[in-house]
Amino acid sequence: MLIKGAPSATLKQMQKWAESKKATPLFIELANTFYILAEKIGIDPTVVYAQSAKETAYGRFGGVLDASFNNPCGMKTTQGGGNYDKSAHMQFNNWIDGINAQIDHLALYAGLSGYPKIDTTDPRHFPYLLSSAPHVEDLGGKWAANPNYGNDIVKMVQDIQSIKVEQEETKNTLKDLENHWAEEEIEFIVEKGELKGYDDNTFRPDQPLTRAEYCVLRARQLGFVKKKIISSIKPTVFILDPGHRVDTPGKRANGLLEYEFNEDVTRRTGKLLESHGEVYYTIETENHPYSEMTAEGRSKNLNFRTNNANQIYDKAIKEDKKVIFISMHANAASNPTASGYEIFVYKMGGEAHEIAKHIYNAAENILGVGNTIKSRRIKEANFAVLRNTKMPAMLIEHEFFTNVEAVKKLKDDDFRDLCAKHIKDGLVSYMA
Ligand SMILES: [Zn+2]
Repeated sequence: MLIKGAPSATLKQMQKWAESKKATPLFIELANTFYILAEKIGIDPTVVYAQSAKETAYGRFGGVLDASFNNPCGMKTTQGGGNYDKSAHMQFNNWIDGINAQIDHLALYAGLSGYPKIDTTDPRHFPYLLSSAPHVEDLGGKWAANPNYGNDIVKMVQDIQSIKVEQEETKNTLKDLENHWAEEEIEFIVEKGELKGYDDNTFRPDQPLTRAEYCVLRARQLGFVKKKIISSIKPTVFILDPGHRVDTPGKRANGLLEYEFNEDVTRRTGKLLESHGEVYYTIETENHPYSEMTAEGRSKNLNFRTNNANQIYDKAIKEDKKVIFISMHANAASNPTASGYEIFVYKMGGEAHEIAKHIYNAAENILGVGNTIKSRRIKEANFAVLRNTKMPAMLIEHEFFTNVEAVKKLKDDDFRDLCAKHIKDGLVSYMA
């Protein structure tokens, strides 16, 4: 069984399996995070989740660690130490960091391209481990001393794959019908499919019927079928991340503070997107919540942004909405002639890459990328806002403010409008 690869089971199967093993509610909830982060890297999420179940006893822990370590796999510190020594084990800042460490460690064993990585939360990212265990079975005697360690995980993964997930429950469980005088008649009509409940599982039996609703009802009774299938586009949530703040050191040249461009274009984009979905911003204040002068503060500030985004995501997926994250930037380089437009995604080939292609296309048509603006294409980057966000995420570098000619565009009001428009157009074309 290979460690790398696409998901070999669905998220629902992972969750149902964990439930069947009496996993803790936290461990069941984290299935989603495991799934998304592993899929982003190109590691089979079921392997990561099964390994974590083995290492944490399905989230119950019980060894020297507990859930407060945010450590999904008994990961030790760089120095290491005894299995029963608490201080020999990693305490991660949050579960995303912990799960990413496990994933990066597995990806290193599996020999994924791009590994070993320079920027990783894995404290034991030793280059000599590269490609030393491409198969789950190989982990025995390597990740853990027990020679059957890998085989045990293989069995757990096969368990997950065999979980049967019933079709989405379609039975109507309308909440507000009980004891209503027309309960049985309403249920009969709903079962016939002539009238439906609302999304919140209510029927609102005493609400009046409009003329339009009467027509729909009568048309259905007469056997009318819609000729054109109305596209079932999910409602979309856009999370916009204006890069940097006033207190970010550097990030200014040729009379432009990058923050000022990012903030302005973010707000213009948000305005345009309002008629296409819900719009949220990762940060609203002029300054960051923590000091930008220390590495710890900067890392907390990035976490602040990604945590805000992830909270919006968690709520949105419960409501079956689609979520897209875009971080807005202008570029800088020590070489003053550097110029051009580029989009960064965490990994090529995923949904973020797909969305980025649409935005890139719009950039060519609207901003003149490839013509009046140098084309720097779509690239991979290990940025925190791309790595630690649960939704498809991209970071756009519009032009270089360190370039005397390019900065004129970045300062220009019409150009900023076009920046906003190309993002909106790209997203709308992706969703169509
Ligand atoms: Zn920037």
